[in-house]
Amino acid sequence: MKIGFIGVGNMGGPMCRNIIKNTNHQVMVHDLDPAAVARCTALGAASVDSIAGLAGCEVVFTSLAVPAIVEAVIAGPGGLAATGKPGMVVIDLSTNSPETAQAMAAALAAKGIAMLEAPVSGGVARAADGTIAVMVGGDAAVFAAQEPLFASFSSKAIHVGDFGMGSVAKLINNMLAFCNMAAAAEGLMMGAAAGIDLGKLAEVVSISSGASGSFTSLSSKAFAGNFAPGFALDLAHKDLRLAVQLADLTGVPGMVAPNVLNLLRAARGMGLGGEDVGAMIKVYEGLMGRAVRAP
Ligand code: NAD
Repeated sequence: MKIGFIGVGNMGGPMCRNIIKNTNHQVMVHDLDPAAVARCTALGAASVDSIAGLAGCEVVFTSLAVPAIVEAVIAGPGGLAATGKPGMVVIDLSTNSPETAQAMAAALAAKGIAMLEAPVSGGVARAADGTIAVMVGGDAAVFAAQEPLFASFSSKAIHVGDFGMGSVAKLINNMLAFCNMAAAAEGLMMGAAAGIDLGKLAEVVSISSGASGSFTSLSSKAFAGNFAPGFALDLAHKDLRLAVQLADLTGVPGMVAPNVLNLLRAARGMGLGGEDVGAMIKVYEGLMGRAVRAP
C-alpha cells in the first residue's frame, strides 16, 4: 500500500519512521523542513515536494502544529481535498478543536475521501518507542479497516466516537496534564521558599497521593534546569486555549483551567514559548526571585 505522511516533525517524524520500519508499505513524506524529511528518507521513504504528489496514496497521515496549518493542508488550495482521489483515507494525528475535525471531515467527504481524527498522547519518547496513545474519532468501520496501520506505530489506539470526540478526549487529557503541572510548579516553589530539601519533597510526593506524571516530569526538568522542548510551551498554550474554548461551548464553569491558561500566557510573554511546557515554573521563579533546583 502507498502511505503519505505530511508533517514529520517532533511527533510525526518518529511515528512515520515506525510505519517505515514496521510495515512493508511504500511511504512518501512531505514537510517544509528538509532536515525532517531527510530523517525519514534515510530509512527508505520517498519525498514529494507538494501535497499533489501524494494523490496516489491510499492513506495519508497529517501531523501538524496548529489548526490553521491543518486547515490549509486539508482544505486549502492544492490541499488534500483538492488533490486527493476518492477512496483515499486521511488520518489527522494533530491536536485540533472538535469543530476543526468536523469541518475537515466534511470538506474531505464532499470529495469522497474518508477521514479519521486521531490525536496522540505520550510525547516524543512514546512516539519513538511505538507506545503512543491514539484517540480516534470518525466512522468505526473506517477505523477497523486501518487498525493494522495504527498498530504499526501505536500499542493503543482507541476509537472514542464520531468526528470531534477524538479532539474532546485529547483536549480534556491535556487540560488535566497542564493543570497538574501548574499545581506541581506552585508546590515546588512553596517547597523551595519554605526551605525543604526538594529531593526529599519529590521522593515523598512520588509515594503519596499528590503523585502524577506531570509532577515527575516537571520536577526532573526543574531540578536539572533543563527545559529543552519535548512538548513546546507554545503547543501547550494552543491546546489549553482549545480546552477552555470547549468549556465555554459546553457551558462548564472554568475554575482551574483559565488560571493555568493565564500562567502559560505569562510564560509566553516572558519569551518562553519555544521552551518545554515545564518552563511554566519560570513564571514562579521570576515572581519569587529564586530558582527551583536540586542536586
Ligand atoms: P512540529 O512543529 O515539531 O512538527 C510539525 C511539522 O510540520 C514540522 O516539521 C513542520 O516543518 C511541518 N509543516 C509545517 N507546515 C507545513 C506544511 N504546510 N506542509 C508540510 N509540512 C508542514 O510539531 P509536533 O510537536 O510534532 O506537533 C505536531 C502535532 O502533535 C501538534 O498538533 C501537537 O499539538 C501534537 N502533539 C505534540 C506532542 C509533543 O510532545 N510534541 C504530543 C502530543 C501531541
